[in-house]
Amino acid sequence: MCGIFGIYNHLEASNLTYLGLYALQHRGQESAGIVSSDHRHLHHYRQMGLVSEVFTKDILKRLFGKSAIGHVRYSTAGSSEIKNAQPFLVDYYKGSLAIAHNGNLTNAPLIKSELESKGSIFQSNMDTEVIVHLIARSKEKSTIERTVHALKQVEGAYSLLIVTENELIAARDPFGFRPLVLGQIKGAPVVASETCAFDLIGAKFIREIEPGEILLINEEGTKSFKPFVHKQHHQCIFEFIYFARPDSFLFKRSVYEVRKSFGAQLAKEAPADVDMVVPIPDSGFPATLGFAAESKIPLELGMIRNHYIGRTFIEPEQRIRHFGVKIKLNPVNNLLKGKRIATVDDSIVRATTSQKINKMFRKAGAKEIHVRISSPPITHPCFFGIDTPKKSELIASTHNLKEIQKFIHATSLHYLSLEGLRKCMKEDAESFCYACFTGNYPIPFQMDLE
Ligand code: 5GP
Ligand code: MG
Repeated sequence: MCGIFGIYNHLEASNLTYLGLYALQHRGQESAGIVSSDHRHLHHYRQMGLVSEVFTKDILKRLFGKSAIGHVRYSTAGSSEIKNAQPFLVDYYKGSLAIAHNGNLTNAPLIKSELESKGSIFQSNMDTEVIVHLIARSKEKSTIERTVHALKQVEGAYSLLIVTENELIAARDPFGFRPLVLGQIKGAPVVASETCAFDLIGAKFIREIEPGEILLINEEGTKSFKPFVHKQHHQCIFEFIYFARPDSFLFKRSVYEVRKSFGAQLAKEAPADVDMVVPIPDSGFPATLGFAAESKIPLELGMIRNHYIGRTFIEPEQRIRHFGVKIKLNPVNNLLKGKRIATVDDSIVRATTSQKINKMFRKAGAKEIHVRISSPPITHPCFFGIDTPKKSELIASTHNLKEIQKFIHATSLHYLSLEGLRKCMKEDAESFCYACFTGNYPIPFQMDLE
């Protein structure tokens, strides 16, 4: 998963990109980078760490120019190291070009080995680099034509931004897996993964870039291309469940409202006879509001989060995550003593967090813990840009409901049904990807599920 931001023809291009990335930090905390263009040269800075740690005033000052793209990353393909940080910048015989990518290309390994056998040398182990090679090798004349030529050869999920000396290109794959939105600030076009980036910088949201749409932004204005064969859309439902920020608007909806509707639907499907409903911070909040309102049970903040720790889930080491839960969340002891509670969280992945949380609730004196999850059981890994673990680590893939309930020490456990989830998406239900719950992957590919 990653966050991307781009801007064309604004005097404060790199400063605004910095702010945009700051608003998108939830999409990736591993590394951050910006490439700017002053019409003659591209300027580049990327580093491991959070946006606020990576950039200083001096660094931003050196990122000259009126256009820029930026990227925050957490790895889905390629290891966590600086050579895999983006934007990825290259010089080739036509000039310079930098790319920022959110998604995951399912045929990248295949293309990469083909190119390597013909002598190509790769600098990173990111799937994104494949696109750069394909653009550079294309015989087409303009950057936009070469980009189209390259994108027609790759499969999978991509929302991406390309900056050259004098143009900005934004593209979203024909399935529309990952979001990408278009806005404007003082006449300058801006593109971002989510609208929350526009809200921070004071840009106006114009519209979403459509699945299969490519925008070319240059001195002449903004031009839209739709070069792909139309595909049934498969926008990522997990953006709504967990990933996107609740104040963002994407896939034609308010993330906050959608999350609330998941909670309300869950309350209809699996009511709980309890004294209070408790959200699991922070990702469980909106769904809990929907659940409590629908079931007319008081909402209480029975678990408090310490906000001064990063999102520990991102750390690749299992033992760090275990430690993280303990230092991140704390129960409100007085509130919970002798109470029957329903807790609402957005998802269970490995169930290690849920188990520890319930242990803490029990220790605080909760008598009954009815766990409600505002998404269906995650049984399959994602190959389209969400960093879900292998099948063997997904608890719902290896255990049944009763076993999971026991594992997490819950009095009862209910997930939102797939039908319920689809119902919340109303007339657009067909245009989402539910593969993490069903295993029905929209693109056939060689996969290693285990
Ligand atoms: P578990 O109990 O399965 O160990 O963890 C569930 C928690 O992980 C939920 O609160 C959910 O919000 C969170 N979660 C689900 N997917 C992701 C993800 O991709 N990244 C992070 N940081 N947290 C996630
Ligand atoms: Mg959470």
